Amino acid sequence: MSTTTSLRIAKFGGTSVADFDAMNRSADIVLADPAVRIVVLSASAGITNLLVALAEGVAQEQRDVHLEKIRHIQYAIIDRLSHPQVIREEIDRMLENVARLSEAAALATSNALTDELVSHGELMSTLLFVEILRQRQVSAEWFDVRKIMRTNDRFGRAEPDCDTLSALTRSQLQPRLAESLIITQGFIGSEAKGRTTTLGRGGSDYTAALLGEALNVDRIDIWTDVPGIYTTDPRVVPTAHRIDQITFEEAAEMATFGAKVLHPATLLPAVRSDIPVFVGSSKDPSAGGTLVCNKTENPPLFRALALRRKQTLITLHSLNMLHARGFLAEVFSILARHNISVDLITTSEVNVALTLDTTGSTSAGDGLLSSAMLTELSSLCRVEVEENLSLVALIGNQLSQACGVGKEVFGVLEPFNIRLICYGASSHNLCFLVPGNDAERVVQTLHHSLFE
Ligand code: ADP
Ligand code: ASP
Ligand code: MG
Repeated sequence: MSTTTSLRIAKFGGTSVADFDAMNRSADIVLADPAVRIVVLSASAGITNLLVALAEGVAQEQRDVHLEKIRHIQYAIIDRLSHPQVIREEIDRMLENVARLSEAAALATSNALTDELVSHGELMSTLLFVEILRQRQVSAEWFDVRKIMRTNDRFGRAEPDCDTLSALTRSQLQPRLAESLIITQGFIGSEAKGRTTTLGRGGSDYTAALLGEALNVDRIDIWTDVPGIYTTDPRVVPTAHRIDQITFEEAAEMATFGAKVLHPATLLPAVRSDIPVFVGSSKDPSAGGTLVCNKTENPPLFRALALRRKQTLITLHSLNMLHARGFLAEVFSILARHNISVDLITTSEVNVALTLDTTGSTSAGDGLLSSAMLTELSSLCRVEVEENLSLVALIGNQLSQACGVGKEVFGVLEPFNIRLICYGASSHNLCFLVPGNDAERVVQTLHHSLFE
């Protein structure tokens, strides 16, 4: 790939392709920047949730309601096209597949079936977007990303094979960029046997970053429904303000700890290949956005707050732990056998407290507690499980080197019950658990005190 000509990839999330007007606004953004030669799309807003519900296997009556909602969202776009006939037939074929797969899911669901089913959201939105561009006389080509996005077979949260992606991108995708604008799907991939996989909820951001890296682009543009990355979720704190420039490390911590604006893995390829990421609003592109890059001027001590809901805390208690060796190794091997990824951990002499990373998979139960795992752990120690907690993360710089951070943070949180605290492992974050019902008030209180 020549590095002298500028090449960009643009990704549009669900609300940016929600309906005919949103798709046209997104098309305007693409056409305004000649460097954008490839576009990655999510499913139209609401569709993936409906498909996930269908994949869980619902009774016929409910199934028909969901299918009708999906058809309604996609038909509302088709009905505004000037030549709708051919695309209507294509979408109808997709909808027939969705109906057939939903019936199968009602009889017996599987993670592979779920991924096959939910992939139709992105397949349909990309077909519709190509049609919108063509009707605007733009030469656009629909590209099935599964031809190049090879993953393992961990359905629901599949991991991409970057070497294969890079080789297949060179042979199958890159030559096409000179011919026409390429429109492709986020979120989906395929495993060795050719079965469809997904990269986890919100995974289209990750797709864009992976393709951006494979194509050696000079910027990855993420268009969403907010004009940038804010000091915290503006839905939780309306007075949150935009961060104009943020480093990869800070933004990656935010994404990992729950800032939904970027999928947690998005920044891995960007950091690896030092590609700046722009985040802006497709509703208001002139409002500007946030640039995520290698370095920023004067990184502040406190940068942002992130919130991750539905956290489970497991406390393990064993007197055998006192001066013992290998206890934690045993605990971790049980968790690994059950495919559980541990998120946070603190220990005392005879207790270990840990949280599980349960975010993002489309597969029911993936990464969650199972009774088999709890039985195995109980043979080793006493196990307590606490649910409905939320994780609040304060993201910043040199946090563990600064004095008085603990007082500044926890001083204002006196009215709240704070559970496990993690501080010191990373200089970029301090995080703690609070009861789920207090989470928003905790974030609002901290934001007011540290950022306003
Ligand atoms: P898309 O469908 O475009 O991928 P998402 O819903 O996944 O959009 O992400 C955008 C949402 O992320 C925003 O509407 C906002 O509520 C939420 N969000 C959470 N934390 C932040 C943050 N720090 N800055 C901006 N948005 C955030
Ligand atoms: N459509 C998928 C989801 O809703 C992927 C994405 O939007 O990024 O999770
Ligand atoms: Mg998203």
